[in-house]
Amino acid sequence: METYDLVIVGSGPAGLGAAFEMLDRDPGARVLVLDKNEYSSGGLRNDCKMNFTWPTGFPEGIWERTQAEAYLARVEAFLKPSIMEKRNLDIYSRRAQKIGVDLVEIRQAHLGTDGGLELIKGLTARLRSRGVELSLGERAVSLDAQARVLATDARELGYRDLILAPGRGGFAFLQEIMTAAGVSFTDNVVDVGLRIETREERYPIVRDYYDPKFLFPKKTRTFCTNSRAAHVVQEKYDDRDGSSWYSVNGHAWSASRPSNGLVNFAMLKTVTLTEPLASGQAYARMLGIQAALLGGGRPIMQRVGDFRLGKRSFRQSFSGDLYDFEPTLPSATPGDIGLCAPAKVMRALWNAMKLLDTIVPGLLHPSTIMYYPEIKLYANRPLFADASFRALSGLYLIGDGAGTSRGITAAWASGLRAVDGILAAR
Ligand SMILES: Cc1cc2nc3c(=O)[nH]c(=O)nc-3n(C[C@H](O)[C@H](O)[C@H](O)COP(=O)(O)OP(=O)(O)OC[C@H]3O[C@@H](n4cnc5c(N)ncnc54)[C@H](O)[C@@H]3O)c2cc1C
Repeated sequence: METYDLVIVGSGPAGLGAAFEMLDRDPGARVLVLDKNEYSSGGLRNDCKMNFTWPTGFPEGIWERTQAEAYLARVEAFLKPSIMEKRNLDIYSRRAQKIGVDLVEIRQAHLGTDGGLELIKGLTARLRSRGVELSLGERAVSLDAQARVLATDARELGYRDLILAPGRGGFAFLQEIMTAAGVSFTDNVVDVGLRIETREERYPIVRDYYDPKFLFPKKTRTFCTNSRAAHVVQEKYDDRDGSSWYSVNGHAWSASRPSNGLVNFAMLKTVTLTEPLASGQAYARMLGIQAALLGGGRPIMQRVGDFRLGKRSFRQSFSGDLYDFEPTLPSATPGDIGLCAPAKVMRALWNAMKLLDTIVPGLLHPSTIMYYPEIKLYANRPLFADASFRALSGLYLIGDGAGTSRGITAAWASGLRAVDGILAAR
């Protein structure tokens, strides 16, 4: 059996951050990075907007501001992003403040999906050239934490330290590992919402601020804005019982691609559950399956004009007269979101959209499309044994799957924080 100083499961930003940090600080360390996919990596290859301002991406209760800012500076020094300019923010901020909304100013870089792929290629080539073993297409399956042996679908691996960074897609895998290893966890927080798609001239703030972050009452916020060459996409979640459901999402190509004149962004409400249903994953699954039931196995889309009239959308609601652009996710089913979204969630989302339309008038044009559901599962919170995301001796759980991040830069920072802990414990 091969034994490594450090095995990292997941080649997303959390895993990559940890791998580079270990190489920089202990160049002789034997490091293996595994990923179940044939390509690296998870989220870096989707749109790749990188946020360098607290608190974007940093979950409350896990990070303190000064600590997160110190890590962000290290992430920035490594990634050397080119930060985008912003304009006219005082105008939008003043309008927002008058109605109890905050506009958070974020230092941001945008590579686009194509730029993200180039970044990944460069990073993985650098890792390999520095002696890291990168095994793609190899899935971690189970763990004997006491013996420090990780089983994959190909072999058994010994390790001194193990970092699990399997992302949101590895949520269930991480829960299985934690249950088997006796690590307590909670997953009682989930974000539920809509993806909004409209013409750029109806949400022109994106020309001044690429991904504007608005915070509304009732834990509702805008998230992940895409424009210029922007598309709505769907992500499939497969349950062990054979059922599937979808969450929508969005991405954009880099500025070098021709613009399609559209913008999309998420409007999300954070839901915190308490007993007896303290599982965000179980709640999200139920909402996803309900939406898939009403959408004939697909996400649902509805024009704002129809929603306001209390009518479902039909195929014909997507062409003609006021309805002057085609959805970029045409496989979504025209329907009635009000029949699937919980009333409390829908009220908060619609209220936030009305406030946003006051700040950026035009958003609630009848042609604007709302897609449902957009669900963010990232609050799988292990009970950590220390501040370095150590769950057990030699076992560190990081990234979006473990609830230590909600974005690329915070995931990378989580990798640095885990390696700080590993080296300090030696
Ligand atoms: C469509 C989309 C767009 C996004 N856009 C942005 C954005 O613009 N900006 C931003 O900050 N964030 C964005 N995000 C979120 C961002 O991708 C995540 O916050 C970030 O990637 C989390 O990093 P991570 O390393 O924890 O997980 P991931 O990046 O998800 O990486 C986890 C890796 O682990 C691998 N893995 C999982 N289970 C196993 C296993 N059992 N064995 C081996 N390998 C395994 C996966 O294949 C994956 O490569 C987006 C997400 C999506 C889905």
